[in-house]
Amino acid sequence: MLRIKGGIRKNHDDWKRVMMMPKPVIDQKKCALSKTCMDVCPMEVFAEQDGKMTTPNADKCIGCKACEVQCPEGAIKVED
Ligand code: SF4
Repeated sequence: MLRIKGGIRKNHDDWKRVMMMPKPVIDQKKCALSKTCMDVCPMEVFAEQDGKMTTPNADKCIGCKACEVQCPEGAIKVED
């Protein structure tokens, strides 16, 4: 069991889970703003901001890869 400042305790498995969080990465050069990722993502990770697709809720990603598979431009890669 690890203890960190502020009294939050995490065991090894908790830390491992945090460190292995999946993360969707958008290639802005490929993205054509089809918004398919917004439609298929079950966790509402994506949002359009200033004419660009962004990932404001990337910390909610569960790594299902629906966005990566469904993106018609192949603009998303989910890093494990
Ligand atoms: S991998 Fe799944 S949960 Fe994560 S951003 Fe893509 S569609 Fe959403």
